[in-house]
Amino acid sequence: MAKVKFLRDIRKVAQIPEDERARLARVQNKYPFLATDYYLSLINWDDPDDPLRRIVVPSEEEVVSWGLEDPSNEASNSVMPGVQHKYSDTVVFLASDVCGGQCRFCFRKRLFVDREKRETALDLPAALQYVRRHPEISNVLVTGGDTLMLSTQRLAAILEGLSEIKHVRAVRLGSKLPAYFPQRILDDRELLKLLEHHSAGHQRIYVMSHFCHPRELTDIARASVDALLRSGVVVCNQTPIIQGVNDDVDVLVELMNELMACGAVPYYFFQCRPTIGNFPYSVPITRCYFLIEYAKYRVSGLARRVRYVISHERGKIEVVGVTGKHIYVKYHRARDASREGKFLVFYRDDEAFWYDDLLAQRRDTSMIVTSSWQPHEADSGGINLSGGRESERTPDGSGHPGIIGQNTPSDN
Ligand code: SF4
Repeated sequence: MAKVKFLRDIRKVAQIPEDERARLARVQNKYPFLATDYYLSLINWDDPDDPLRRIVVPSEEEVVSWGLEDPSNEASNSVMPGVQHKYSDTVVFLASDVCGGQCRFCFRKRLFVDREKRETALDLPAALQYVRRHPEISNVLVTGGDTLMLSTQRLAAILEGLSEIKHVRAVRLGSKLPAYFPQRILDDRELLKLLEHHSAGHQRIYVMSHFCHPRELTDIARASVDALLRSGVVVCNQTPIIQGVNDDVDVLVELMNELMACGAVPYYFFQCRPTIGNFPYSVPITRCYFLIEYAKYRVSGLARRVRYVISHERGKIEVVGVTGKHIYVKYHRARDASREGKFLVFYRDDEAFWYDDLLAQRRDTSMIVTSSWQPHEADSGGINLSGGRESERTPDGSGHPGIIGQNTPSDN
């Protein structure tokens, strides 16, 4: 198979006009650019709004001052460098600070922007000891960065160590390589053998894939998913809803159907986090909700297993309903056990981009009880349900909330 090349300098992407490359080089100085020549070959360069282009090619709007370095406050979960104890049963190992491509909307941009901090400096023996001492931990998410960019030897050490801890029943490996660099999976027999070895017995390996758009599911990408499945790995897909990439009902339907066809279970649709540089990519919560609900209405029950969640510092908050007046959410996972399963009602706000925006209005909201809701009966309030960017949106507030990161009242 031809060797895949990595490009780290946007000025070398000849398909982009020279004057634009010079402007984008200023963006890459702030937020690095990285892509494989394979992934760049999938882009339709005649279309300046090509969705795959938006996934990896910088946008000048990224430099707008907006968002936080760590919007989900992962620092508060950290128990040692490279280890976060996120929920009582879940630990995260930040094991890699390398990816197969740099997603423009990455929520862990801080890892690539400030490498001095070395958040991924995982001390493996210490991390394993931590897990060993906590019998409540049933699953470990190994991520970063992209776990499958680790050498097979390093990955083997991590999996070997975890396999010896009997209370760990599942190991998740976060990876966008099936989209960015599927050749890595297909060409390394040792890697597949390793995954096969650890996907039998008392533990199972899950690869959390990150297909954002159906066009990423090329023949070779599907073959890489197939190879993972044949090695006994379970593949689950998660992606944020990204403006200009997959904020379109038809695109979401096709994505879910393609995922189902190749055996990757649609698992989470995430609210795009208000991370630094993410201004051009975020989509309001109510619009995401209706996009997903209308898309789910057109796919099978298998694909409808996907959940739409806001991965907030308080936990995973599932948006379960929107009516003309209200937004209904439920804690799918909660950091604070007293919030587990809690169901909350907020006034509908079509300009809310993050849970903090809803919490900010909470003091005025009264809990109400509602009957079940059907997508086809919904009133989306005139929200645009097809693709395209909302060019009228401005960073200084007229079309965007200014409350990201603000202290908010309790939701108790
Ligand atoms: S693959 Fe994941 S960690 Fe890497 S840039 Fe994309 S979102 Fe960030």
